[in-house]
Amino acid sequence: MTSIAAPNLDAIRADVRALCAQFPDAYWRDLDEKREHPGAFVDAMTKAGFLAALVPAEYGGGGMGVTEASVILEEVNRSGGHSAACHAQMYVMRALVRHASAEQKARWLPAIARGDLRLQAFSITEAEAGSDTTAIQTRAVRDPETGGWIIDGRKNWTSRLMTSDLALILARTTPREDLTDRTRGLSLFLVDLREARESGEVAISPVRTMFNYETFEVEYRGLRVPADGLIGEAGMGFRYVIDGWNAERILLAAEAIGDGYWFIDRAVRYASERVVFGRPIGANQGVQFPLAKAYSHIVAADAVRWEAARKFDAGLSCGAEANMAKMLASDASWEAANICLDTHGGNGFVVEYDVERKFRETRLYQVAPINNNLILAYLGQHVLGLPRSY
Ligand SMILES: Cc1cc2nc3c(=O)[nH]c(=O)nc-3n(C[C@H](O)[C@H](O)[C@H](O)COP(=O)(O)OP(=O)(O)OC[C@H]3O[C@@H](n4cnc5c(N)ncnc54)[C@H](O)[C@@H]3O)c2cc1C
Repeated sequence: MTSIAAPNLDAIRADVRALCAQFPDAYWRDLDEKREHPGAFVDAMTKAGFLAALVPAEYGGGGMGVTEASVILEEVNRSGGHSAACHAQMYVMRALVRHASAEQKARWLPAIARGDLRLQAFSITEAEAGSDTTAIQTRAVRDPETGGWIIDGRKNWTSRLMTSDLALILARTTPREDLTDRTRGLSLFLVDLREARESGEVAISPVRTMFNYETFEVEYRGLRVPADGLIGEAGMGFRYVIDGWNAERILLAAEAIGDGYWFIDRAVRYASERVVFGRPIGANQGVQFPLAKAYSHIVAADAVRWEAARKFDAGLSCGAEANMAKMLASDASWEAANICLDTHGGNGFVVEYDVERKFRETRLYQVAPINNNLILAYLGQHVLGLPRSY
């Protein structure tokens, strides 16, 4: 199977594939069984500079666009791996590059680009607020002694907190009832987790999920953040987060598309080799047609992803395309996952075939970091101009 790719991306694809070949199915399967973080893989990705793709070249990063970055994550998933182990550094980079001060960028970005520091934790979601990020309650107040900030509150999902050096935390700096615009009053902080974890100001409890994923509930207990930890202007943090959403949607779409092609490749191979009733099962239309349909849906989602990435990198407005790409790609990968499992019959449930592992992993893309319902609400209200429900 080939995906739609501009020729100048072939070299990136080849490099990522070569790296991923060192981490075959057995590597991911073993970690899945042990529920362990793929540390060696993330190290290799960091050392190769792939995770610094979106750090501008002037800070020593890859200086790439979202198009190239998306190919990196696509290839990881297409190889049978799972980008979620490390994708956040790409997801959050726009907030930092666009809104951090020159001093903050000079301090953090070169170290991130060299791979000395990891910025792979993004702490936003809270249990009570859920998808309504503007309702979060974690507070940051000024520390009168230092001029810095003190953060208190709970987040129910913050991934990679133990393996990242830095985190971006969204916290309320103005009470919601004092606001006329609910998108204001939240601020974004860059926090050094290495110190915070040691200080006891960050209490972390692991959350076990249906696939191997390092995610946590976290309580910030008087977490002290220096004044220069605030990104941009106080009260504007949610706007900065939104600013990164289109990139995040496109990158996630690429991961789902990588999964989708992986499922199709595996299913086609199995359907061509497995003989029942004296012929390969793939000769039966009941097996062949669902595969052809799922493949078409991946290719269609892929086309929207390229258009979204093209517009994003050209600085054009791409909210509609980025959101559609995320939804179509996650739906297409889930369709392909189901067809792949069906094609494998009982073996689809057998751990050694890896289908059940990828099946569990790809299901996340319909749900997080944003649920497809919220994408539909965005399309309905912001693209089609339908009335708002909330
Ligand atoms: C494995 C995993 C890792 C995660 N990692 C992180 C992380 O690192 N950092 C972080 O900040 N967050 C993280 N999250 C959280 C993730 O972003 C949230 O799960 C997501 O934003 C949805 O919030 P929720 O789970 O509270 O769902 P809810 O908001 O409770 O929604 C539940 C359901 O109701 C639907 N719904 C809600 N409101 C509406 C509406 N108005 N119209 C239609 N349908 C609606 C939703 O679409 C969804 O189907 C992670 C989640 C998972 C599962």
